[in-house]
Amino acid sequence: MPRIDIVTIFPGLFEAFLEESLLGAARREGRVVVEVHDLRDFATGRHRAVDDAPYGGGPGMLMKPEPLVAAIESLAGPKGPERLARVLLLSPQGERLQQAKLAKLAETEYIVLVCGRYEGVDQRAVELAVDEEVSIGDYVLSGGEVPAMAIVEGLVRLIPGVLGNPESARTESFQGGMLEAPQFTRPAEFRGLGVPEVLLSGDHGAVERWRIEQARTHTRQRRPDLAAETTEPGTVRQSKRKES
Ligand code: SAM
Repeated sequence: MPRIDIVTIFPGLFEAFLEESLLGAARREGRVVVEVHDLRDFATGRHRAVDDAPYGGGPGMLMKPEPLVAAIESLAGPKGPERLARVLLLSPQGERLQQAKLAKLAETEYIVLVCGRYEGVDQRAVELAVDEEVSIGDYVLSGGEVPAMAIVEGLVRLIPGVLGNPESARTESFQGGMLEAPQFTRPAEFRGLGVPEVLLSGDHGAVERWRIEQARTHTRQRRPDLAAETTEPGTVRQSKRKES
């Protein structure tokens, strides 16, 4: 069963998140273990400080290296081949998260997510204890908790058995390098707008062909940067082979 440990100075932020919806059910059904750890439990001294002023001056505070490294090593062990978990630091400077990365993470047995706060993290903690840095986009949030939630939510829905219908994940946006086709539900007419005739036809082949065509058009219009290399949503994108 996959396991995810989260290190944060705000464990309370995760309370409802872990209980509700698909993730809550997945945890209760034993499909995934998610544990939250308070970084302050690893801080020493009378004030259990987890932050300090940056050397060289500058605004704000930085996360101190000692509690971070202690927390990470107590969970994952020291960095190296014997390490028990893959340790990810949430950081706007990390590799930008994509669906393919989530799919890879969903196959990883044990992940530790480290949430930064303040102005960030002492670089020595990153060097000593972090395996990789992951960003959820080119913008700056106040902490790594929301990015960690994004990773957990995106990853957990890829664990077999979590989605009621596994077909959902197969046909979603970014599978096969395409966005999903537009979708409709009842009523058949709403404020003068109808539903494409083909979706009411009961002809599954025609519906499938319409969806593929719509997915292509939709992707070209909205995300021309996505390489639509396959013809069918739900197939894994093939990398182009070099002609020899
Ligand atoms: N001073 C840092 C910089 O300019 O790169 C930003 C620090 S940010 C205010 C505090 C923390 O929020 C970061 O250490 C990181 O954990 C988290 N964070 C903010 N934006 C993020 C993003 N786009 N992706 C992942 N984590 C982010």
